[in-house]
Amino acid sequence: MSTPLLSFTNKGIYCPAGKFYIDPWQPVNDAIITHGHADHSRPGHRQYLTHKDSVSILKYRLGNISINGIGYNETVLKNGVKVSLHPAGHILGSAQVRVEHKGEVWCVSGDYKTGPDPVAVDFEPVKCHTFITECTFGLPAFNWPTEKEVINQIENWWRTNIKSGKVSILTAYALGKAQRILAMIDTSIGPIYSHGAVDAINQIYQKEGFLSGHFPYVDPSTPKQQLEGALIIAPPSAVGSAWGNKWKPLSIGMASGWMMLRGSRRRRNVDGGFVLSDHADWKGLNTAIKETGAENIICTHGYTEAFSEWLNHLGYNAVSEKTLYEGESLENKAEEQ
Ligand SMILES: [Zn+2]
Repeated sequence: MSTPLLSFTNKGIYCPAGKFYIDPWQPVNDAIITHGHADHSRPGHRQYLTHKDSVSILKYRLGNISINGIGYNETVLKNGVKVSLHPAGHILGSAQVRVEHKGEVWCVSGDYKTGPDPVAVDFEPVKCHTFITECTFGLPAFNWPTEKEVINQIENWWRTNIKSGKVSILTAYALGKAQRILAMIDTSIGPIYSHGAVDAINQIYQKEGFLSGHFPYVDPSTPKQQLEGALIIAPPSAVGSAWGNKWKPLSIGMASGWMMLRGSRRRRNVDGGFVLSDHADWKGLNTAIKETGAENIICTHGYTEAFSEWLNHLGYNAVSEKTLYEGESLENKAEEQ
């Protein structure tokens, strides 16, 4: 049997013919990075290649690295292997990696979503023989409401809090989801502020032209009087920490795909749970996979066993592989820096 085009090694997904890795979790010479979340873009590689809109994010997170950015659909040759990046719809600059050699095509999804997002380029299916997919929300129970419905729920929750004299803290991933919310929410309801981790990423999105508006930085030294009627966007770790205690009474909300599960609000001790994810839901995963035309599917993170079993039942040749990708973690510690 010939060597597969991509294989799973202890350092990450490796292309032996091209001598490069995709989203490796151990330091390597040549790393292609799907997007800027910490579980996919790790420090210590000698050379990074990513989408041009991810360059500032990676530099912010990883410091002075050697990095090149390319556009979507642009082809790069690595030791005779054709590599190109295609929109993944997950966050700013997120890309699927298409790899072609001797007529065989593989595609690595990274993280992706198929729904709309005002601060990311829409997902585009890539025709391939083998598709390496995430399946963070690969169970039928995950069926997202529309973005508009969710934003309306957040706005109503915020208005109710203003009436009861509470400051609203909405937790969301600092990279991607926070900016998606800021781009959609009705800014006339009241003032909106950002936790430091969110503010740092806002500045990158604003510099790249993907976000406009004024969402000033707050920290525990900000006086309570300044925050009357305010909505503060903060990373998930702010819940349960003493970070916002000074501004009590508070109402805490959380925007996450996990809010789809019964009891998740209570378990996380939050008042408002909003189903908003930057990952594909069950339907999105199934549609995306079908549109690749691939026969072979490799599931990397999420409900990998159940989902690959489902795909086999549909007639695909599906397996799961262990990786260090985390999908949508509620703890999200790596994002906060
Ligand atoms: Zn991600």
